[in-house]
Amino acid sequence: TASEAILSVNNIEVIYDHVILVLKGVSLTVSKGGIVALLGANGAGKTTTLKAISNLLRAERGEVTKGSIEFKGERVDRMTPNELVRRGCIQVMEGRHCFGHLSIEENLLTGAFTRRDGGAAIKRDLEMVYSYFPRLRQRKNSMAGYTSGGEQQMCAIGRAMMSRPSMILLDEPSMGLAPQVVEEIFEIVKDLNTKEGVSFLLAEQNTNMALRYATYGYILETGRVVMDGDAAHLRENEDVKEFYLGVT
Ligand code: ATP
Repeated sequence: TASEAILSVNNIEVIYDHVILVLKGVSLTVSKGGIVALLGANGAGKTTTLKAISNLLRAERGEVTKGSIEFKGERVDRMTPNELVRRGCIQVMEGRHCFGHLSIEENLLTGAFTRRDGGAAIKRDLEMVYSYFPRLRQRKNSMAGYTSGGEQQMCAIGRAMMSRPSMILLDEPSMGLAPQVVEEIFEIVKDLNTKEGVSFLLAEQNTNMALRYATYGYILETGRVVMDGDAAHLRENEDVKEFYLGVT
């Protein structure tokens, strides 16, 4: 029901550069405490959907031209990304985007930028992040640019956690990483979900891995949701098996 939803995207259309129609009416719901997978091939519109929610489209000359987006029961379509972060919804962008010339710890601290509470709380949250990501604690003084791809992905998620989010929009965390590193990261995502109560919308091309951790999934094809269902149900679906599970 609607009262259980933390995020609902209602029939949104997205156009780039005033003419390129990329999302053709996408609807999805993330229930409070859920991990929802947004699946589909390269170019299907996963990143565009996440950026539409977090209001990062403007920088790409994109615009939501139809539909509405609600977070915690409030319309958020016209908010700035920072306003959304203050309300508890933050995106971790594809490609990790750590500051390469800053240490891991300095990167994590940049994640606290929207907060108005003091240093003690931020210090406590740094400890919270290190407790989930022991590798980041080990590497806290290393320049992020010299750490591994997996550590940089952890740093990006850890930095998002420093804003004390109730929801993370996570774009393609598996990209370019070895399977065991992907698994390590997904296990931490599951921990953050169960222990910190963070809801996740997870865009992934790695269907197999995503459906092992998600509770529910949506499949996008050229800007439309073509299928959705419980993760267990999608894993058993013949079309999903043929078109998405065989290839990853
Ligand atoms: P990927 O895995 O590559 O991120 P995706 O499913 O996230 O794929 P999007 O990045 O959302 O897909 O792209 C969806 C479509 O929108 C693609 O056809 C892409 O070429 C197009 N597109 C993305 N960004 C822009 C832009 N700034 N201007 C014009 N078209 C764009």
